[in-house]
Amino acid sequence: MKVKKTVRAGLVNLTKIKEKQLSQMWKNYQRWLKDEDVDRLYSAHKQQASRNLDKVKDSKEYPIFLRKDLIDIEECDSDIADYFFKVPTKQRYGGIKVPIKTHIEIKKDCEVCESQLIKKDDKFHLNIMIEKEVELKENFDGVLGIDLGLRNPVVGVALSVAESSQEVFFKGDTIKQIQARYSYLRRQSKNGKKWEKREYNKVRDRLHKITTKLVNYAEENKLIVVVGELTGIQNQDKGRTMNRKLHRFPHFTIRKMLEYKCKDRGIVYKEVSEAYTSQRCCKCGEKGTREKGLFKCNGTEINADINGAWNISKRALGKPEIRSLLGAGASVTMPELHSDDLTSGSAEVSSKYFGIRF
Ligand SMILES: [Zn+2]
Repeated sequence: MKVKKTVRAGLVNLTKIKEKQLSQMWKNYQRWLKDEDVDRLYSAHKQQASRNLDKVKDSKEYPIFLRKDLIDIEECDSDIADYFFKVPTKQRYGGIKVPIKTHIEIKKDCEVCESQLIKKDDKFHLNIMIEKEVELKENFDGVLGIDLGLRNPVVGVALSVAESSQEVFFKGDTIKQIQARYSYLRRQSKNGKKWEKREYNKVRDRLHKITTKLVNYAEENKLIVVVGELTGIQNQDKGRTMNRKLHRFPHFTIRKMLEYKCKDRGIVYKEVSEAYTSQRCCKCGEKGTREKGLFKCNGTEINADINGAWNISKRALGKPEIRSLLGAGASVTMPELHSDDLTSGSAEVSSKYFGIRF
């Protein structure tokens, strides 16, 4: 299976002459797109533009699409940059070789595909597309069911069929704290946009760490990652406050990150319907009640988000297409819920049940 990803790169330590040549090429390209006559524009850039752009608006600038066979990337040993990237151009014989810093490593086994040169806030960047072959894993030992809740955005329950074991994960408070802090700062400040951007970056950073840990865990323990699908909830009207909370919680981003990171390592990623997973007891299947983050039914009291994640894991294990991926040696029996101590409504649940603390 081939997996594509975009590596974001910034141009660093650009000499004046290279900067001038890039700017000239950029200007010529934008003018050519708007049907002006220009000389000194590489024909390959014209071709790729006709392929990639349908309509061109006069008020907008567009990326330059760099054909993959014209790109050349070399590793750079110095601290200043990670790589040298050769930008094909008419402005300099042999192309403009620019030092770049990238947000992730470009591994040797990756193939570089058509990439883009962009200009934002007066600075040049590159979106380098890379593609690599990933072998899809075949034998799994269980599932990691993840509930994207309201009180705690990410709660996972891992059920390993092979070893009949269970682990619980928890994360929520940090994201909520970041959002609360920035919502306060936003109200205080005249420049709300600035805070929005900072909040977005901080939350995103946290989410990256959380999702990477979950996927690491799934990989080490040979688990299929299963996330509850929220489609139903998004459409229900739960009142103004609840609706606002739902939209501020970054469920969509978490799902996309998990899906992408699983794909990247050949781990199977599935979404299952979340219907009733929050209302039914993960132990006996009966309908229960939810109160302040606690799920209650006859004889069971459990943190409501854990209950939800547990049910997602169970539902996944009941699906034939998931059972068929579990190792041949593993008989699919459900690990029993063996905790008496998962009842706390907050993230302060006893740590002995946590495989990982985020
Ligand atoms: Zn029950």
